[in-house]
Amino acid sequence: MTINYTDLISSSTVAKTALTLCLALALVLSITCRQTHMRAHTQNQDNKEEILAQVDLSATMKHIRAILSKELPDIVLLPNSPTHISAFRQSTASYWAKQESEATPAIIPQPKNALSLSTAMKLINRTFTDCITSTDPERRADVEGLFAIRSGGHSPISGAASVCNGVLIDMRSFDDVEISEDGKSVRIGVGARWGDVYSALEERGLAVVGGRNAEVGVGGLVLGGGGIQTTASATSHPDLGRALGGGSNNFGIVTHITMPAFPCANIWSGFLYMPSFQAPKVLSAFHVSVNKVLSADPDDAYDSRAAGPLCCFTYLQALGMQAIAVNLVHTNPLSPDDANVDKGASAWPKAWRTSPFASLFRFWSTCKLRSLNDATREMSKLNPSGRRQAFGTTTVANDLSTLRAAHQVYRDSIREIKRRRVKGMSWTLVLQPLLPQWAGLGEDNPLGFHSSKTMGSDASDANQARAEEPLAIVSFTVNWAEKEDDVLVQGLIRRAVERIEEAARGMGMAHRYKYLNYCDSWQNPFEAYGEGEHMWLREVAEKYDEHGLFQRGFAGGFKLRDNDASINSKEVLRVF
Ligand SMILES: Cc1cc2nc3c(=O)[nH]c(=O)nc-3n(C[C@H](O)[C@H](O)[C@H](O)COP(=O)(O)OP(=O)(O)OC[C@H]3O[C@@H](n4cnc5c(N)ncnc54)[C@H](O)[C@@H]3O)c2cc1C
Repeated sequence: MTINYTDLISSSTVAKTALTLCLALALVLSITCRQTHMRAHTQNQDNKEEILAQVDLSATMKHIRAILSKELPDIVLLPNSPTHISAFRQSTASYWAKQESEATPAIIPQPKNALSLSTAMKLINRTFTDCITSTDPERRADVEGLFAIRSGGHSPISGAASVCNGVLIDMRSFDDVEISEDGKSVRIGVGARWGDVYSALEERGLAVVGGRNAEVGVGGLVLGGGGIQTTASATSHPDLGRALGGGSNNFGIVTHITMPAFPCANIWSGFLYMPSFQAPKVLSAFHVSVNKVLSADPDDAYDSRAAGPLCCFTYLQALGMQAIAVNLVHTNPLSPDDANVDKGASAWPKAWRTSPFASLFRFWSTCKLRSLNDATREMSKLNPSGRRQAFGTTTVANDLSTLRAAHQVYRDSIREIKRRRVKGMSWTLVLQPLLPQWAGLGEDNPLGFHSSKTMGSDASDANQARAEEPLAIVSFTVNWAEKEDDVLVQGLIRRAVERIEEAARGMGMAHRYKYLNYCDSWQNPFEAYGEGEHMWLREVAEKYDEHGLFQRGFAGGFKLRDNDASINSKEVLRVF
């Protein structure tokens, strides 16, 4: 059995597998925490004095930092402490997007196990609850943005996995990858990166359904992608388990996931690099390839092992030029029906050599037989860290006119980018398929493709009618050089996404779904799950988190409470 790479990609949308998840929830703590009563080291006391002199913290944060330093001296890092500074800087510098690295936390706990994590969360929660239930309005207001959680640090949204003058729970020490003896499952710490996971599995000839990019973290991807089952859900918390599969950081802190593993040999994968004048043909090839899923002709049937195509249209401001990169993958290129064994490492599997992509003129191709790990490392080299980054996304039907309209919006934006002289801008439109087969698979999840929570206007809307059609996720991946252009760039992305949505609506080809992990801060992915799912997620959050620790105490990322999107929108709208 080989891993189905289509499923791998689909983990970014509607994951197929049921995952077993171990939770360390601040509000659902199953671990009895032993208080250590350790004496704070003199060095730490000195460090605290230094910080108090340098950082303007709220009274609540000063208190939290003091108790965390006292109770968990071995796992906390303080800024400007001579003994901590190198590890502190390493933590804040290890984000993919530069703007995330710019927030300086008041303290960084780096828990090594569930016990120290739950101790930290208990301490934070105790202070949060004291404040939020206080009769003093000032204390009540002092609970916003007390902490943040990070795993791989690949969210480009400021504050989603970082915090200024708050507690940053850095989960990167949870990076263990434990393969079961029979090789059928693997338990993965959320702080691991997908490349580490694939490397460990490769030694046993195995793989799992995961991310395409080696550097992306396990935690954030899984919580945005759906299809999760908690350990707790098997017995007593099924609603929490369902909510986590797409509910992001609104319900607790995940420590591990357990996934089914599959035998996996080499896959065929790589990029075709093309000149921008090929755009009309690439759009058409995307449309034809994705629509194969509707084909009744067995000779032209959709091959579920042929993942993608992922089509990237890029404009590079520094060079003043555009180019196209198309990623193609096949997970079983050496199967008898492909008969590629004698044709060398770069021979195309049948599904792709009979596709319109095969005959397109290109500068070069990197497609070849390679390990899954190698394929994901090629992806990560194309997306290096350390630049200012932003995403933005929408979903449309796989309709050629709509895809062309999206591409036209991408091109129109280039004129604006040139006019505004955004330094170091790389402006990329990405198209990737979202097939009905994927949407219907896996555990029931709240992403809006399962009908169990459909209600009101959801029940009769175009999204339900479109349930059997192939869709296209349309997103922008953008990076640039200067902080002063942040608001401008975010505005450009927003305007482009909204124009595409308007065009799609006009043609009756819009879909409400927005993949959370590709959304920008002004978007509301939960609304895009549908009214019923959105309300249900709120109910679950209120049930498990009565006082809103994960809504107000952790204010970053996509929140279930009202108004977050509109707060950010105002910033963006000032550009125009
Ligand atoms: C270059 C690049 C390539 C990508 N490729 C893919 C892809 O192939 N497929 C795909 O689906 N997505 C992809 N993404 C999107 C990716 O899934 C998200 O950016 C994801 O959030 C990254 O996870 P992380 O752990 O690295 O992020 P982080 O920035 O650490 O976290 C992201 C969010 O999840 C929350 N979170 C993280 N860990 C936990 C936890 N343990 N408990 C509770 N909340 C937590 C954080 O608070 C934050 O809000 C890609 C992103 C980038 C930048």
